[in-house]
Amino acid sequence: MQASSIYSTPVSYILRVVGLSEGDEEEWARTLDFADAGAFDAVMCFNATGEMPPHPPLGTIRERVPFLARRMADIRARGMSPMLNYFVTLGHGEAKPAAGMDRFQPIVDGLGREPMGCYCPLDESFAAYLAEAFQLHALAGADSLWIDDDFRLYGRDGAETMQCFCPLHIGAFAEQHGETWTREALYERLLRMDAPDRELRARWFRLQGDSLAGLAAKLRDAVAAADPAAGMGLMVVPPFMNGLGGRRLDAEIDALRTPALPDPWVRTGGGFYHDERPLDLLDKIVNAVDPLPAMIGVPARLCGEIENYPFPVGYKSATMLRMEMYLNVVSASGHLTFSIHDFYLGNHDPSGNVLPMLRETKPYLRAVAAAMVGKVRRGASFPYHPRLAEVRALTPEGYASRWNVNLARLGIPQSPSDASPPLLIGTTANLYSDTEAEALLARGAMLDAEAYWILRERGLLTECPITVERRQPGGKIQTERVVCKRAPDWLKGKNLAVRWHVSYLDGYSLEATAGAEDLSLLLDAEGDRLSAGVVVTDRPYRLAVFLHAGEPMRELGRQWLVQEALCRVAEGKLPPMVEGTLNHYPVWWEGGGEAVLGLCNFGLEAFARMTLRLPEGRPIVSVQRLARDGEWTDADYGASPHVSGSGLSLIMHGDSVPRPLSFETFRIRYAADR
Ligand SMILES: [Zn+2]
Repeated sequence: MQASSIYSTPVSYILRVVGLSEGDEEEWARTLDFADAGAFDAVMCFNATGEMPPHPPLGTIRERVPFLARRMADIRARGMSPMLNYFVTLGHGEAKPAAGMDRFQPIVDGLGREPMGCYCPLDESFAAYLAEAFQLHALAGADSLWIDDDFRLYGRDGAETMQCFCPLHIGAFAEQHGETWTREALYERLLRMDAPDRELRARWFRLQGDSLAGLAAKLRDAVAAADPAAGMGLMVVPPFMNGLGGRRLDAEIDALRTPALPDPWVRTGGGFYHDERPLDLLDKIVNAVDPLPAMIGVPARLCGEIENYPFPVGYKSATMLRMEMYLNVVSASGHLTFSIHDFYLGNHDPSGNVLPMLRETKPYLRAVAAAMVGKVRRGASFPYHPRLAEVRALTPEGYASRWNVNLARLGIPQSPSDASPPLLIGTTANLYSDTEAEALLARGAMLDAEAYWILRERGLLTECPITVERRQPGGKIQTERVVCKRAPDWLKGKNLAVRWHVSYLDGYSLEATAGAEDLSLLLDAEGDRLSAGVVVTDRPYRLAVFLHAGEPMRELGRQWLVQEALCRVAEGKLPPMVEGTLNHYPVWWEGGGEAVLGLCNFGLEAFARMTLRLPEGRPIVSVQRLARDGEWTDADYGASPHVSGSGLSLIMHGDSVPRPLSFETFRIRYAADR
């Protein structure tokens, strides 16, 4: 875990163009007009389309490069940066390769499946082919060559499990470690969860990661040799896919540095391809964008993905495109790639809403990014340890945690790069030595019952007045009752709906003894107590232990409950939380006596006012709101003591309340002596 601030402050728009209008120069000119009209800074052309056979012979590439070079020159002549997206490296999924190009070692998954046309990075003849292909493409004169997100060893059509278990990988593992495994035995051993073989997993994933970083270096060398002015870029998949593929992003980024671009592009990906469910955007940011800065420790030029997939015109409204752009910029990076149109029907703007929105939003986003300089993001979070795959179930669900999504949906800011307070979940407790775990706990921490149980078994927290027992799951939890003495009247003694929408770690039970306090109890259908739901203590550290499984909850009762628990463990040192309304999400950066607050409304309802709970209670000197033209103006707000008796309430009014499916940005200045 590391603290990182935003990677690069300029906001740039990169238009990613699938079809190059071959044989239709007028259509190509319209594409460039579209880029001009949308205030794009760069145009990134795909070298091939998904309809073309992957892995064309070198002769075919040689014939095609002059055409790509003309396209690059046209883009440069319009004052934009030309970029090239090398669409298929290892292979996105099953596709019939070009004739004669099926001679390489296929990628093999743990079950022995071999997706057609997807090849292993350890196959030296394939690596030599790809290196020469990249070298040829580098002659097209692009400012940067980007490797698409098929550069991975997890998740591709035609494979079901982690990859690659081909004879080359199994052989390399045998050679490195003097151990001979069959694919079946190795895969079975890697998956074992009763006592995960961490040492074996670490060695196996190391080999996977090395095979990708090794191929990346070969591609970089080929590009740098052909065009010393070229840079490299890498599109990456969400963290669970990187983790389950054994990737070490730092090693890959290091392998892609060129003299011309010492900080290679790294673009986050991972969904929100349509706007049918607006909150999916929040899930994408939390799951796929936020964790990466916490998992990258070397210089890189971070970039966000804006994508309608599979690229039909008008697939996503301009309203949600704007939200997606904003949330990327306020969370991680000012650079954005746009895959928003369908090349079959051409790059144009049938609604008439998208191009004006792009132009109008740019000064605003630039002001947001500029305000981030020198600031650090803060919030409660699962901290995304780089070796997660050593201790978790090797499945998408098992790999990480849904807690961050849950916290986001409850209006709580988060920061995987500087988790405050940190959230320890399940077996991830085992990633930390006793000393490291003590240091995390000493900051004040949230734990689930499983992580707490593991630490107690290890002999830590034995003095803590919260008891935990393992029990046979049984006695269906029917009710969660709020018993916290400080709960507001509307909540005190009330039951929260459980039904089937809230899940608990029902193999454990928790209980407060003297020195701890139950904030909620879990009852069966007869009203008998099965466990505490949330327990807090300040001995030996400020801790909150949850029986909740971390699945997203979106309701006011649990919003109060979780926020109260966080305030206790953070002893007030916690960024503002949205209180009393749902579907709002805050992002918080601070430094140099001021803070930037990005506030999004994912809901369909407009509010006359909204309240933020500021646990820190630092005296506020001024709050400014960023107007849509990118200028800071006075915000419409009031501050008063929080009803709990500690901290402040910041109440927004009028145009300082984000409209439905929209956002507002604030700059908060504190008194100089604090
Ligand atoms: Zn392989």
